[in-house]
Amino acid sequence: MSATIIDGKAYAAGLRGRVADAVAALAANGMVPGLAVVLVGEDPASHVYVKNKARQTVEVGMRSFEHRLPASVTETEVLDLVSRLNADPAVDGILVQLPLPLQIDTQKIIEAIDPAKDVDGFHPINAGRLMTGVRGFVSCTPLGCLLLIRSVQPNLAGLDAVVIGRSNIVGKPMAQLLVSQNCTVTIAHSKTRDLKDVCRRADILVAAVGRPEMVRGDWIKPGAIVIDVGINRIPNPDAGEGRTRLIGDVAYGEAAQVASAITPVPGGVGPMTIACLLRNTLEAACLRRGLPMPA
Ligand code: NDP
Repeated sequence: MSATIIDGKAYAAGLRGRVADAVAALAANGMVPGLAVVLVGEDPASHVYVKNKARQTVEVGMRSFEHRLPASVTETEVLDLVSRLNADPAVDGILVQLPLPLQIDTQKIIEAIDPAKDVDGFHPINAGRLMTGVRGFVSCTPLGCLLLIRSVQPNLAGLDAVVIGRSNIVGKPMAQLLVSQNCTVTIAHSKTRDLKDVCRRADILVAAVGRPEMVRGDWIKPGAIVIDVGINRIPNPDAGEGRTRLIGDVAYGEAAQVASAITPVPGGVGPMTIACLLRNTLEAACLRRGLPMPA
């Protein structure tokens, strides 16, 4: 068997196109959604993410507000900025790029964001809404994973799903989303016993670990849908000294022989995260103005 490759890049482009159409309709009535991104410090990866987010925000017709703060900024200064953004009517969504420097309590900052503008879905109120099945903002990466899974299998009822990883931003919301789709869900983590056997039961396997190619081909149930969230940068001497490349948490070549569908890295889950962020910002803009979310 050779798996269908789930093209996250193409799906994300389509989603951004639908968001752009809806934004154009809002803008025609004088309502332009705005996304504020707060970037603290000089982390190179964070700078790349923020640049991409800002570019794609503008490309779909939204306003992008970037706030760059030095690594030495105090917690109070970040809280003050978040409070100004909460009150700013031009801002529909607020994203504070993580990680934050050590002197800042990340949870405190997340909880300071108005839940109605928390387009990352990290605020405990939005996490609780997901848990209780109430409408709220869902963390962008798991939301993107669910859209990709449903692009190849629209009805997930009764399927066995295994999520490896239990972080608040990926693993836990992913598991909750799959429960909401009527899957029977197992959450695996670093203390899970017999992980390979656990994974082999999965009709849907989501790997969100951060360990290069940990999931091997013989961990996968024949015909399973495999979603690889992992982004791992490893040396790539073939491309030249000091060069690197990205690989996932799944041994792609082996897994593609067994799975029915699989996301590649790069080009799978990665592009979905920003597309879902823009979708969430559109939703925030509609909700704040009392408008229905466009289909
Ligand atoms: P975290 O480090 O927060 O969580 C990793 C999880 O993996 C933990 O729950 C940990 O278990 C578990 N784990 C670690 N080692 C093992 C092991 N040997 N066996 C089983 N489970 C293990 O990472 P994130 O959730 O933030 O991210 C996971 C991956 O997804 C990373 O590669 C990250 O780069 C990527 N990512 C990709 C995004 C995208 O846009 N595509 C967005 C966000 C993340 P325990 O809880 O017991 O420690």
